Amino acid sequence: MSVNLLDFDAEGLTAWFAQQGEKPFRARQVLRWIHRFGESDFEAMTDLARSLRAKLLATAAVSPPPTISDKLSEDGTRKFLFDVGKSNAVETVFIPEDDRGTLCISSQAGCALECAFCSTGRQGFNRNLSTAEIIGQLWQANRALGCDSIAGDGGGGNPEGGSGGERIISNVVLMGMGEPLANFDNLVPALRLMLDDNAYGLSRRRVTVSTSGIVPAMDRLAEACPVALAVSLHAPTDGLRDKLVPINRKYPLAELMAACQRYLVHAPRDFVTFEYVMLDGVNDSDADARALLHLVRDVPCKFNLIPFNPFPASGFRRSPAERVRRFASILINGGIVTTTRKTRGDDIDAACGQLAGRVQDKSRRVQHGVGFVSGLARTSTGVDLHP
Ligand code: SAH
Ligand code: SF4
Repeated sequence: MSVNLLDFDAEGLTAWFAQQGEKPFRARQVLRWIHRFGESDFEAMTDLARSLRAKLLATAAVSPPPTISDKLSEDGTRKFLFDVGKSNAVETVFIPEDDRGTLCISSQAGCALECAFCSTGRQGFNRNLSTAEIIGQLWQANRALGCDSIAGDGGGGNPEGGSGGERIISNVVLMGMGEPLANFDNLVPALRLMLDDNAYGLSRRRVTVSTSGIVPAMDRLAEACPVALAVSLHAPTDGLRDKLVPINRKYPLAELMAACQRYLVHAPRDFVTFEYVMLDGVNDSDADARALLHLVRDVPCKFNLIPFNPFPASGFRRSPAERVRRFASILINGGIVTTTRKTRGDDIDAACGQLAGRVQDKSRRVQHGVGFVSGLARTSTGVDLHP
């Protein structure tokens, strides 16, 4: 069986080359061909010795997940569906903005964490993506969007893009399907490739891992590869967060806040971004906003409010725009930079939390989420979530 070179970061590729009796600079050359120039054909890697090309052809391959579909939204958002085998598929979304282009990638086929308001969580969990499947989404999107998109700075390795050429993909966020920190060992080499000047050369500030709050893995990430961190908060109290984000029962808010503070010792940014999905009548009151100010008082942070993106039978409603504005103003008056995420790609179901892909659930759940959501309706708000 041939080895998939997309599974290796620089260190891994160098080690594999050493096993083949090849020098480290050869590994660097091949890394550049694969990731900077989007090349998968060893024959096209013209500065490699013919004998090395033949050896690679016999033993290795560059195999990204195949593209099943590629849809363009009216607002320019582009959604890719990638085949990850055995009838599973994951989604990747490209979001162009005036000053940046963000690629939102997936880390697992499904998700085991069952957050109440998340379409991925409702689908169940199949498996972790391999490093090749994680970085392969960036590799594929980069090719589809025009291969110079990342390698466009002429080889100078200018990590912020800058003078040498325009980067179409300037930022990567792990906010697609799955919980990235539940797939730590495959995630880290993919992150290292994103940062590597011989690969995608993104600065650590331009790569964001979003987590629902797996505390021990946050500490490991700080040590292994401290990229920008976003934490999905969604509730100001343990009582409510236990219901919305069940992993909170294992790592409650006090532990999560302490982990955020520890992360910032290593972080490339001096703040954590708290994501907060605005659910009508559930977590969006003035009192909730004030409670948040108290909760995060010792954590340098920003807030990103996300209007809830509905999906069939979600059991939740999006907070009205005026409510979101009022909630934001309380945070801002409390001294916290707060933005409200624009909803993009609505017409192709590419918005945050709507990514569904295709998941053959192996977690054998009974009645996905149903008991959970009705429990929420009864206990936390008095609002009928099943009108
Ligand atoms: N598992 C990680 C990353 C993927 S989810 C995490 O939970 O952080 C990316 C973001 O989308 C998270 O903040 C998540 O809470 C949010 N999200 C999930 N479902 C949503 C929905 N239906 N509407 C809006 N945001 C949602
Ligand atoms: Fe998983 Fe994140 Fe969805 Fe929660 S919000 S179920 S952690 S993907």
